[in-house]
Amino acid sequence: MRSRDDWVAAATQLSIRTGLYIDGRYQSARAGESFECVNPASGAVIAHMARGQAADIDAAVASGVAAWKDRRWRGLAPRARMEVLQRFADLVQQHSQELALLETLDMGKPINDVLGIDLPEVLKTIRYFAECIDKIEGAVTHTDASALHLILHEPLGVVGAITPWNYPMLMAMWKVAPILAAGNCVVLKPAEQAPLSCTRLAQLFVDAGGPPGVFNLVNGFGPEAGKALALHPDVVKLSFTGSTAVGKLLLGYAGQSNMKRVALETGGKSPQIFLNDLYDLDAAVDRAVGGIYDNAGQVCNAGSRLLVQRGIHDEFVRRFIARSALAYRAGDPLDPATTLGPLVSHAHQRNVLARIARGISEGAHLAMGGGSAGALPGGAFVEPTLFTGATANMSICREEVFGPVTAITAFDTEEEAIALANDSDYGLAAAVWTSDLKKAHHFVAQLEAGVVWVNCFGDGDMTQPFGGFKQSGNSRDKHMMSLLSYTQSKSAWFSLA
Ligand code: NAD
Repeated sequence: MRSRDDWVAAATQLSIRTGLYIDGRYQSARAGESFECVNPASGAVIAHMARGQAADIDAAVASGVAAWKDRRWRGLAPRARMEVLQRFADLVQQHSQELALLETLDMGKPINDVLGIDLPEVLKTIRYFAECIDKIEGAVTHTDASALHLILHEPLGVVGAITPWNYPMLMAMWKVAPILAAGNCVVLKPAEQAPLSCTRLAQLFVDAGGPPGVFNLVNGFGPEAGKALALHPDVVKLSFTGSTAVGKLLLGYAGQSNMKRVALETGGKSPQIFLNDLYDLDAAVDRAVGGIYDNAGQVCNAGSRLLVQRGIHDEFVRRFIARSALAYRAGDPLDPATTLGPLVSHAHQRNVLARIARGISEGAHLAMGGGSAGALPGGAFVEPTLFTGATANMSICREEVFGPVTAITAFDTEEEAIALANDSDYGLAAAVWTSDLKKAHHFVAQLEAGVVWVNCFGDGDMTQPFGGFKQSGNSRDKHMMSLLSYTQSKSAWFSLA
């Protein structure tokens, strides 16, 4: 394992690409403007990124349309496209140290988390969808003998992807990999808070033999570059991960423009239910702690509502606080020993602290944390925070905080737990902890969530469709069903009469 000093030294050698990546080359923004990239661990400006706007989106989409029309990507044999994506994954692997450094400096994620979680998941994602390419199958339907009917899956065209900053590379690859695997072209607009790693990924695709123009990237702000992409008449589908509020705007932009398809992966307020009969309280507490404080709580499916049955409530709270005190070490995210980095920005830190203050003013009991951990001067840290005595009407139980803040609510009956869990605008994920198999099935059937975990939290692999019910979204990432969502069916009816 490299030391903090090694990483600090490596950071001084980094060459940061700041341009938009269109047509296989870095370009300045057409208006010549840029925006600052800030390291949230220190407040230092680390780069000035080209600030793409509508004219840049036009150029990126036009480049994608040209690549779509001349079939330079979709026209390749499936095996040839697979090989490009596998080489892309190889290059990501070869550049993992550079990519990890970029991510850590840009968004404050501990370097060991990027190396141990984000990058392995990015590789699995690219390789999984590469492997899927020649597994896409159409159908021959059962018709009268005078006809032959084929159902074919065809790619869509130029797809726009707008992604968030919490797992910058992974959230982008959950979109880009299946979009490309299906034979489409893509224009990616990463989050302005953490654009560095994705900018590099676009180039690595071309370095891997991907035809220029097939994967273009425009950095910039949501209301400028993001909105222009969402309104663009030549973008046939928009795939989005981010907040519910922006997801609703995108549906409007699609209606105002070309009625493009809009796939949304949005916010969450995921409940974890702990029943009196769960078989291992320590294991459950461990996952409750990790489920909210990993990545400093900046996780869409974070377990931010802990519903604990009365019989184990007091012991659960005691062990939760004891475990949390041991589990995290705040510090410089370049230090491999750090397990709690800063939040992505100082603005987000202020927002999370304000939500904590609101929880207190609404009458919840602040049982742990609540302040900005002073691990590094100038860093945007927030302490792991726990509220107890929370009730369903409080903002900490209703609104997404997107930080290391969770609330425990005690309940008596299983019906009460289900009602509390489902009393939310969101429906991304939920968990139930019980040793009773029948009860577990009952909860799975009753919980309104796209993912339900039983006796675990956050587990899964590429075969698990990921996405939400209700205002958590309308689509699924991962799994073959994500790949197929970037295709459209064509019915070919042959008369044999
Ligand atoms: P955000 O909605 O503020 O921004 C997401 C992206 O949308 C960014 O690229 C941003 O520039 C862009 N954007 C903002 N305004 C826009 C506009 N008017 N038009 C077009 N694009 C616009 O979200 P965030 O703060 O970056 O990320 C946190 C949110 O993402 C949380 O709500 C979290 O739950 C959600 N999220 C969901 C999932 C999931 O799979 N469901 C995964 C990760 C994050």
